[in-house]
Amino acid sequence: MTKRWQVDPVQVDPGHPAIREAADKLRQGEPVAFPTETVYGLGADAGNTEAVERVFAAKGRPADNPLIVHIADREQLVGLTAEPNELSKRLMDAFWPGPLTLILPVMPGAVSPRVTAGLSTVGVRMPDDPVALALIRASGRPLAAPSANRSGRPSPTRAEHVLDDLSGAIAGVVDGGATGVGVESTVVEAGTAGVHILRPGGVSAEDLRRALPGIAVTVAGEMNAGADPLTAASANQPPGAAAPETEAPKSPGVKYKHYAPKGALTLVTAREEGARTAWINAELARRKAQGERTGVLAAEERAARYPAADAVVVFGREAEPQTFARGLYDALRRFDEAGVTFILAEAVDEAGIGAAVMNRLRKAAGGRVIRLDDPTNPGE
Ligand code: AMP
Ligand code: MG
Repeated sequence: MTKRWQVDPVQVDPGHPAIREAADKLRQGEPVAFPTETVYGLGADAGNTEAVERVFAAKGRPADNPLIVHIADREQLVGLTAEPNELSKRLMDAFWPGPLTLILPVMPGAVSPRVTAGLSTVGVRMPDDPVALALIRASGRPLAAPSANRSGRPSPTRAEHVLDDLSGAIAGVVDGGATGVGVESTVVEAGTAGVHILRPGGVSAEDLRRALPGIAVTVAGEMNAGADPLTAASANQPPGAAAPETEAPKSPGVKYKHYAPKGALTLVTAREEGARTAWINAELARRKAQGERTGVLAAEERAARYPAADAVVVFGREAEPQTFARGLYDALRRFDEAGVTFILAEAVDEAGIGAAVMNRLRKAAGGRVIRLDDPTNPGE
């Protein structure tokens, strides 16, 4: 039986009965899901290998994909990592608590080797969520926590999503309502060359540049800009196939297909919006004639422009780009509820949080991208 502990996300402290009970489960080595400001995490005592193994088993997560360790205060770094370098500390000052994960040298033996997947580093962050912080404090342990979904599925942004995927497989979920940011943390490495973004997330490259004037901020994969890995040549991969790679992944998890609804999703980019709307409607009509149940993932501003779709799911408003991040995973799950088998998704502007949204959409698409502006890839 998976328990659901209801808590008030604003007024919660480590002494709350629900938090105490959930923390007891964690101390007993049981995985417990909890809200953070990004998505729901599935937590386990980072030092308990059996508990961590239960997290991998419940999710069906590949063993070479390390887990992020969540702490409630900077004192918890002592004994967990070596002394962070100055740039890492500046990042903590500027962005913790918040959706930024720092890759730091791990102290030997501080966490289960299953957490780090055998690496000499560990990803650490301090979530900006009162429920998460109360639970970490009550458990008295750093919590290793990946997103609380079955591996490959869209990450959970509500307790219902967690239960849809993991009911019966975990001890319980602390229900603190919908999460705020909606996409996972930004994973960075800070060193003498500056800050390197291994995975885009809730803190944007622009946020980092603003906070660290004069410090280089680079993004993994961008040295290959122009030679986008997600070309038509890699389209139509079977579900579960690894996304194409351009470089050996430094952040092991980035190579896996992720965040995918059950229907096949294709991302559609175009400079000219009218042309895209027309192409999408025509393609949906064609697919429907072939027996597909069709859907469009659209901005609220354009939701009414897709009469050909069986289901139009709005994931946010163009006028407020952070709403795309907040609504993305719930929207992807809604296609499953509607039994949609063929999905076309509008690409969004890559500025700010848009980089993280597009990263997740590309993964959900598993390589299927139609570029209507590209004469070599007219989407036929
Ligand atoms: P998730 O738990 O699904 O949010 O994924 C965690 C992300 O952090 C994955 O992309 C991991 O590859 C990355 N990550 C965790 N620990 C490390 C580490 N020590 N070095 C590099 N990347 C890491
Ligand atoms: Mg995840």
